[in-house]
Amino acid sequence: MARWGDALSEGHVEAEEGGEFSREKWELVRRSGVLGLPFPERWGGAGQPLTTTLHVLETLGETCRDSGLSFCVTTSMASTGVPLAAFGTEDQRERYLTRVISGEAVGAHAITEPGGGSDAMAMTTRAVRDGDDFVLTGGKAFVSNGPIADLFVVYARTRPEGGPLGTTAFLVPRETPGLAVGRPARKMGLRTAPLAELHLDEVRVPAGQVVGRVGGGLMVLDHVMKREILFGFTVALGEMRHRLGRSVEYARTRRSFGRPIGAYQAVSHRVAEMKIRTETTALWLYSTAARLTAGEDVTADLAITKVLASEAALTTSLAAVQLFGGHGYMTEYGLEKDLRAAVAGTIYSGTNDIQYNRIASTLGLGG
Ligand SMILES: Cc1cc2nc3c(=O)[nH]c(=O)nc-3n(C[C@H](O)[C@H](O)[C@H](O)COP(=O)(O)OP(=O)(O)OC[C@H]3O[C@@H](n4cnc5c(N)ncnc54)[C@H](O)[C@@H]3O)c2cc1C
Repeated sequence: MARWGDALSEGHVEAEEGGEFSREKWELVRRSGVLGLPFPERWGGAGQPLTTTLHVLETLGETCRDSGLSFCVTTSMASTGVPLAAFGTEDQRERYLTRVISGEAVGAHAITEPGGGSDAMAMTTRAVRDGDDFVLTGGKAFVSNGPIADLFVVYARTRPEGGPLGTTAFLVPRETPGLAVGRPARKMGLRTAPLAELHLDEVRVPAGQVVGRVGGGLMVLDHVMKREILFGFTVALGEMRHRLGRSVEYARTRRSFGRPIGAYQAVSHRVAEMKIRTETTALWLYSTAARLTAGEDVTADLAITKVLASEAALTTSLAAVQLFGGHGYMTEYGLEKDLRAAVAGTIYSGTNDIQYNRIASTLGLGG
């Protein structure tokens, strides 16, 4: 596993600077089988339980220093693998899930629109029934994997009046006429994970490519987002473990005023704080996964987990930069890019503000 991580990490600082997704590394990902871990063997997956999948993703985070690449992995699994496995027809699984699991097809999903992402159900992209097809028109923003994806799950409004049963999920292969992918967006971090806008100009999608039911988009999305949070932030947990290990090592070996810096309480407590945040994140991730598997309502747990994990990633990556002093600020140490990547975690998969709203609503508070 460590050797696999080393191969995935090779040249990660330069790759981030260049902002290039690596097809060669994707091949290594494909060969490892990680993309198929939680999916049924019948479709080429490994049929592993959720917690086993998370343990492997945690190791991916700990050993792969290319956070953008790991982000592409969990995005493909969650965006297309998860909904196809849970809601797909036999034909969809045969034609598409097998390719997502093998990594032959990269997956992406398009929910957010230029007009807003937090209020996802207010989306304006329309899907209008026309005989055996739906015709999709609109635009999507911030689609992770967009520039490299072969298959998209696009969420669109099928009822003009909207409402909880107003949206539907559609499988849209990249080559579908009318679908255009924008240029890769320049962004703060995760630069090896390309992201783009999608433009849908009368994209004709057969009714057989609806994922789940017409009007069931919210249900599909809810199922997907739970796994997206668990997959993505378990990778972040592994990255925290890497950071913690490096920080302990540095605190023991870097000397100042004749002593290792770890002898100073300001430094040792900073590392202890990293340890607390890492272990708290681990407990919440794995216990929420266990409760989800047991069929319990994890609405509040998942929101708490997302907030804790993303804030822990942010504070521990800032702490590591500070602990390494001037070196931490230098690109070649590979720590400042972790800080830039961690900022995104407070935004994607539902911003932390929205997670606070969810927690408040389970307490009968908020709007
Ligand atoms: C790296 C990255 C990858 C992403 N990948 C994808 C992807 O693959 N597919 C996809 O569809 N989207 C993706 N997104 C988009 C992401 O889901 C949205 O950015 C996010 O949901 C917020 O939507 P918005 O940017 O439109 O912000 P807005 O919804 O406009 O919100 C702006 C600000 O207002 C706050 N706010 C809004 N409403 C409320 C409220 N009710 N209460 C309190 N605060 C509120 C928000 O928290 C935020 O701070 C990605 C984003 C990033 C950064």
